[in-house]
Amino acid sequence: MDRLTRQKIEDGRIIIESALEFKYQSKQDPDSYYLVDLSAYGGSGACYCEQFRFRIEPKILSGSVAPHETGSQCKHILLSKFILGQKVIDSTIEKLRQYEENPPKKKNPTKKKDTT
Ligand SMILES: [Zn+2]
Repeated sequence: MDRLTRQKIEDGRIIIESALEFKYQSKQDPDSYYLVDLSAYGGSGACYCEQFRFRIEPKILSGSVAPHETGSQCKHILLSKFILGQKVIDSTIEKLRQYEENPPKKKNPTKKKDTT
């Protein structure tokens, strides 16, 4: 993950509420946050920022832009999906590392057939 995004998460400017809910601090009003809901529109996502509510969502509702297609997501939704993907990648790498360091022991080792 890039340094700026990681910094924003550490500073609380981006809050990861759950896998499907993220909050972004408003630049104009630091006391308010835009909520991103990635479950909306069949997993395409919705956001409470002005860009999404006033420019993007009306196009989705009128049918001129389909969910998931170019122009159906604001920068907050796209960044949330990026963060989520990176978290899955990081945790998978960590699991593989642990597995390689500490492979699970075989419960029932297969014995060679006794031919005597
Ligand atoms: Zn947004």
